[in-house]
Amino acid sequence: MHPDDTPGAAAGSAGRVAEWLRAASAVTALTGAGISTDSGIPDFRGPQGVWTKDPQAAALSTIDTYLSDPEVRRRAWRSRRDHPAWAAEPNTGHRALADLERAGRLRAVITQNIDELHQRAGSDPARVIEVHGTMRWAQCLTCGIRTPMPEVLSRVDAGEEDPACLSCGGIQKSATISFGQALDPDVFGAAVHAARECDVFLAIGSSLTVDPAAGLCLEALNHGARLVVINAEPTPYDEVADAVLREPIGEVLPLLVRGAVTPGPP
Ligand code: NAD
Repeated sequence: MHPDDTPGAAAGSAGRVAEWLRAASAVTALTGAGISTDSGIPDFRGPQGVWTKDPQAAALSTIDTYLSDPEVRRRAWRSRRDHPAWAAEPNTGHRALADLERAGRLRAVITQNIDELHQRAGSDPARVIEVHGTMRWAQCLTCGIRTPMPEVLSRVDAGEEDPACLSCGGIQKSATISFGQALDPDVFGAAVHAARECDVFLAIGSSLTVDPAAGLCLEALNHGARLVVINAEPTPYDEVADAVLREPIGEVLPLLVRGAVTPGPP
């Protein structure tokens, strides 16, 4: 329980969370795949998740299998080309966070997503911290050069099943973090900073099972923020959260933000 709360207070309702947001001078959000499901991009671990339906896909998402198995790379390029994010549009959840930012409340969006829908919804790219990278760029794993993903995918369309780096011939991969790959320390440092320096930390649409991103909830709590979990299913951080909202993100987040930026009850 947060020190400002009276014992027995009915924490957990959207109205109460909106009050916290209204009083906050800095809010940080951590988003996961669940904020993009309304845009038609399936999550990994929800009931309709990619890994729930195909547990083998998770095992193939390691950097070691990618490097050692050309068939895994061929499959990865095909799956990038056919990814629903290319046709996806931001939804009411992404737009609500952009509204909160425009109202001067949102310090940062730390996202585990790779779809860039926050930026496309109007969030300032300088405030979006992509801890797991972006699928809109490819990167050479040897020389590090980055190429816009559409350029690489056009080579896939033209018949190159595993397009090598045009500079050095090395293996390329989308500029995303696979299991076994280190996070960019500067990017993650910025995320830690944003988690430590906020009054309210919103964990939205994440199963909160992937560290170190999920551990940012504790960074925020340990530095005095309230933790609000907005997720359809239980997470490991529900017990320590100040509030847990299970409503659909696309409905509850706009409600919270409206309540926070306009006077009166949400
Ligand atoms: P996850 O799949 O582990 O968990 C998503 C959670 O969101 C689930 O618990 C699910 O119940 C909940 N959820 C889904 N839709 C919801 C809705 N409309 N309202 C409320 N809750 C909803 O996702 P994660 O924790 O982000 O971890 C998955 C990893 O996979 C991340 O690293 C992420 O980068 C990556 N990923 C990204 C995308 C994307 O960029 N859109 C999509 C799939 C996976």
